[in-house]
Amino acid sequence: MDSNVASVSSTGLPRTAVVGVLGGGQLGRMMALAAANLGVRVKCLDPTPDAPASVAAQHVQGHFRDAAAIEDFVKSQGVDVLTMEIEHINTDALALAAKDVKVDIEPSPGTIRVIQDKYAQKQHFAAHGVPLPEFRNIACRGCMESTGKAFGYPFMLKAKRLAYDGKGNYVVRSESDIDAAAAALGGYEAGLYAEKFAPFVKELAVMVVRSRGNSVVSYPVVETIHKDNICHVTEAPAEVAPSLQAKARAIAEKAIACLEGAGIFGVEMFLLPDGEILLNEVAPRPHNSGHYTMDGCVTSQFENHVRAVLGWPLGETRLTAGSAIMLNLLGEADGDEGVRMAHQIMGKAYATPGCKVHWYGKDGMKLGRKVGHINIIAESREEARAKLGQLDPTGLASLK
Ligand code: ATP
Ligand code: MG
Ligand code: MG
Repeated sequence: MDSNVASVSSTGLPRTAVVGVLGGGQLGRMMALAAANLGVRVKCLDPTPDAPASVAAQHVQGHFRDAAAIEDFVKSQGVDVLTMEIEHINTDALALAAKDVKVDIEPSPGTIRVIQDKYAQKQHFAAHGVPLPEFRNIACRGCMESTGKAFGYPFMLKAKRLAYDGKGNYVVRSESDIDAAAAALGGYEAGLYAEKFAPFVKELAVMVVRSRGNSVVSYPVVETIHKDNICHVTEAPAEVAPSLQAKARAIAEKAIACLEGAGIFGVEMFLLPDGEILLNEVAPRPHNSGHYTMDGCVTSQFENHVRAVLGWPLGETRLTAGSAIMLNLLGEADGDEGVRMAHQIMGKAYATPGCKVHWYGKDGMKLGRKVGHINIIAESREEARAKLGQLDPTGLASLK
């Protein structure tokens, strides 16, 4: 065991702590790579053969929504601390595992349960005074009509559960959209709620890491740009006044302070024209808007997640350069054509100083799939943006 591990073993965890991760996609992979650098062993549970995380984690094939698979994973693999790279997991199984197998789960199953139901999440944050767009439960057609009258059009209709990349959202533009919107999200029985439309000037995001001692530390504020509801570009620091940066960090820290358990959290927010900042949603795990930290900050979001769940001291979160832009590599086409297009951008990135390529090694290319990302690190915003323009002119255009 290396000296780093030995020096922090006073946290109560055995020196040979095994971190179990539910999910073995790209987030699990980058978590496992960061853990490997700290001398920490990671095992992941994922149904996909050759899951991306298997390059650095011992991969156990099984589903993270299957209670028996989770329990068996924890028991048979000697997992000391269980964490996750995805919130859409079986929280009943998590709670059982915590009780039966006495495994330490970070963040806590209760936190995952609240966050994975976006309506419950909104209720929780509202009760703790975190600023949010107005929201209300939708149980019937009549609720939609009264919401249209109360919120005005457009308003957002959202599925409470299993949402990602905008799948599970519908913009209701007028009363005549009501039936199509409800049907598109699986009908009123599926569990729906509505949010007032936030006329944002920018979308902001802040990563927050929560220690086992319940302290919270935030990262710099980033602007996030979406393409077809998928994160495309992030820029750190966001081009907003220092007072707004401080406000965004304070809201993000407040939101994470009212949850339980250790780990990294992604906090998505809306900046409104009058300077008001509202929370959109929280992810209880590493987040796409925090990928820039891998090359742009003293400690990456992945390393800080591992440190947090193990009860180690947290690493510094500050930027180490003037600007850090992240460009997601999203599948531009299915199959070989998509690979060729991604390789073209990666080729340019390898030839551009300050660019770092992260390729997830996923099996197969599909349109819209996240297959990697490029971090562009530069002394100034102008320099980072110029390099982004060389790699992806549409990405640069989205920042202006
Ligand atoms: P993710 O992949 O981040 O988990 P998701 O499927 O959970 O996304 P949301 O974050 O709820 O979806 O919404 C996706 C995008 O839709 C937001 O980033 C924002 O651009 C837009 N959006 C969501 N809610 C609102 C709102 N109330 N007003 C205006 N735009 C919104
Ligand atoms: Mg979401
Ligand atoms: Mg979101």
